[in-house]
Amino acid sequence: MNNTIVQHLERIHQISYLITNAEFCVTEAQGNAELFAECAPDNIGRPLADVVPELIGIEAELAAIMKGEKEFICLDTINRDGQDGQVTYVRMTELAKRNDDGAIDGIIHLLEDVSDDERLRQEITQKHNESQLLQRKLSNSNLELRALNAELAQSNDLHSLLVSMATHEIRGALTTVQAYLGLLEGELTLPTPQSQTYLERMEQGLDRLRKLISTLLDMMLIELGQLEILLTAVELPPLIEETIELLQPQIVAKAHTVTFHMRNEIPLVLCDQIRVGQIVDNLLSNAIKYTPEGGEIQVALEAEADGDHILLTVADTGIGIAPEHLDTLFTRFFRTSEARQHGQGFGLGLYIVHVLVELHGGKIWVESQPNAGSTFTVQLPVAKSEIVLNRATFLLR
Ligand code: ADP
Repeated sequence: MNNTIVQHLERIHQISYLITNAEFCVTEAQGNAELFAECAPDNIGRPLADVVPELIGIEAELAAIMKGEKEFICLDTINRDGQDGQVTYVRMTELAKRNDDGAIDGIIHLLEDVSDDERLRQEITQKHNESQLLQRKLSNSNLELRALNAELAQSNDLHSLLVSMATHEIRGALTTVQAYLGLLEGELTLPTPQSQTYLERMEQGLDRLRKLISTLLDMMLIELGQLEILLTAVELPPLIEETIELLQPQIVAKAHTVTFHMRNEIPLVLCDQIRVGQIVDNLLSNAIKYTPEGGEIQVALEAEADGDHILLTVADTGIGIAPEHLDTLFTRFFRTSEARQHGQGFGLGLYIVHVLVELHGGKIWVESQPNAGSTFTVQLPVAKSEIVLNRATFLLR
């Protein structure tokens, strides 16, 4: 073989070769004998099976090459223990050797050190297997997570349901106690100023508890997606007057002045009477709470020019709200630090009011300046036909 080509192949590709004749005896051996012991010159004249025992078993293929039935064959990579204890990977290619007349007179056995390629291939295979294993683990964890989530959602639902049942019961019991307290008050023919104060305090305490229980119950219903409203055509002015009347004790206690006026003729409103009463109660209670003593609170109703909506406003002269808080005011548990100094609360009232207003297909917004009062406005739809009895369910999930 051309020596320059051989040297080139040897150097660049770590390739060596053997040539065997028609009797499968080595006639030529070239290459790095340190890397490939079979290329040592003293192998010349020895039978191929002795020099390269890995070829035992493929005699039929070698014979096919000799007969010209196959031009070449590539063997699977052969592993060999290297001198440094590392495995060497050898690729063998068997090709027909032709003489000057073109007749096949032997076989060229090319030996190539493909250790680097093989190690890389093995590394890639290992990485591929590892990534598949990881993917499998990940999809298993995803399944577990999904199962856990489902379990959690179920236990959350159960938890909400239990709290909702408990709050229902407590509210019932409170109503009974409140009713008996009223009866007891009537029974006291000559109440002393002290017993009168005690009774008032008990009533205030009961009232706070009742409101807390209602808030809890509403939150549970919202979480369970079961807060429902019953829409009817409602006359709002008497409802507002009644709510102001019910809040008289708090209004008087803080020496506020509360006025109510209608800016024009107010049509019937399509709403849930009890829930709108709750909205007014909440906005008015806040106005009372967050306005220092002797404040002025104005409740107003106005029919919008489009004939489709009414506007309910509750304006106070209280502590006001900083502009940066206006966006978060209707979220759960939000309370400003100024509000904490002016009264107790949970930061849930406006959130529930907001949900209720949206359930009605309405809107709520606020205009306010610190120390210059706040004006809350609620927009509700007008009842278009005579009496509309409908059931709307707001599913919050
Ligand atoms: P709570 O009154 O129990 O704190 P709300 O949800 O009703 O909860 O109100 C949330 C917060 O909005 C209050 O804590 C307060 O910071 C602010 N806020 C509500 N109404 C007023 C108001 N009329 N004037 C000033 N701040 C208000």
